[in-house]
Amino acid sequence: MAGISGGKIDYQGGRWIVPDHPIIPFIEGDGTGPDIWRAARRVLDAAVARAFGGKRSIVWQEVLAGEKAFKATGNWLPEETLAVIREHRVAIKGPLTTPVGGGMRSLNVALRQVLDLYACIRPVRWFAGVPAPVKEPQKLDVVIFRENIEDVYAGIEFEAGSEKADKLRDFLMGQLGVKTLRQGSAIGVKPMSKFGSQRLVAKAIQYAVDHRKPSVTLVHKGNIQKFTEGAFRDWGYQLAKERFASQTTPESEGGTGKIVVKDRIADAMFQQVLLRPDEYSVIATSNLNGDYLSDACAAQVGGLGMAPGANVGDGFAVFEATHGTAPKYAGQDKVNPGSVILSGVMMLEEIGWGAAGSGIIAGIEGALAAKRVTYDLARQMPGATEVPTSSFADAIIAHLK
Ligand code: NAP
Repeated sequence: MAGISGGKIDYQGGRWIVPDHPIIPFIEGDGTGPDIWRAARRVLDAAVARAFGGKRSIVWQEVLAGEKAFKATGNWLPEETLAVIREHRVAIKGPLTTPVGGGMRSLNVALRQVLDLYACIRPVRWFAGVPAPVKEPQKLDVVIFRENIEDVYAGIEFEAGSEKADKLRDFLMGQLGVKTLRQGSAIGVKPMSKFGSQRLVAKAIQYAVDHRKPSVTLVHKGNIQKFTEGAFRDWGYQLAKERFASQTTPESEGGTGKIVVKDRIADAMFQQVLLRPDEYSVIATSNLNGDYLSDACAAQVGGLGMAPGANVGDGFAVFEATHGTAPKYAGQDKVNPGSVILSGVMMLEEIGWGAAGSGIIAGIEGALAAKRVTYDLARQMPGATEVPTSSFADAIIAHLK
């Protein structure tokens, strides 16, 4: 909003402290990023104005990354961008081109490391009217907390035939009693710590407490990987017992009136979300399981193109569209802005402006019911009218509550 000088969001004692006019840095993104960001920003501003009668507003501050940054500064990810996001704590981004070839840090990896964004949060729910491959898509309504830093994302792996891989093989076989490890193998290391696992589970349980969710499910592959995935499960239960005793009960004790903490083996969980989806609510899981599970769940509700995401740490959060830049449609005012808008909804909820977020959900439901949708949805919805990105945003704004 022109003329309003914004303030900085702070974080104290595990809670956000948000001024009425917070400065929020944004990266509009490459390819179709500017199209969807323009639409999303209008929706977010209209929803905040409507929910708070003009008393609150977001003061947007653009920061550069990706192609736009490269053209302006010769750098794909200027240090200043990281510094501004760190200073303002909460940011939102559109999709960025990943340049082919080396020498360039991924923005997501850089942000994750610099800000210690250890939880990747993906809510998955169905919106009425969206075509889905299952009979009862409305039964799936989960929020997946995926550990974002350890496990395979730690990136500790050694190429087949390399000196390091061979050294590691010799060490494992010579010193640690490993019996079978074929010569010339590639070797990856899967680190999972008690600290990293428990802070992720704590975030998931705290979310369940704050949002009155019925259960938290620890998803793991502990039947096979006992000391990593199995430990994740054990540390999760331990954390629930020690830190959330009054709010949670383990499934094995069958308590009522509390959040039930349960666990499922990852492969069984893929069946469960298809066959008994309404038995699951908040899910906490390790990195690779969460990667697969969140896309599978999003596909199940027909919503891969509208799935939002957030990378969250303690006192830092970056919200993002989960799809890529869809470059062939760049500048055509064509693609669906739903993913970045819904990531904005997550952002509003995170900073305690949930009234504006639920207004947008109503707006999206209204636009879908009116069947005025972008091409990706229109081509699957009988009787729908295809509208441009900007008009889909107009339809959402017209149905804000
Ligand atoms: P993509 O950009 O996600 O596009 C793949 C297809 O998904 C599009 O052709 C389109 O399908 C559909 N799609 C994507 N976004 C859409 C939207 N907003 N509305 C409607 N349909 C949408 O994946 P990509 O082509 O593999 O990647 C392109 C670039 O994006 C690459 O440089 C990649 O590295 C980058 N990327 C960035 C991120 C990120 O920043 N988080 C994530 C993934 C990829 P149809 O062709 O069927 O219409």
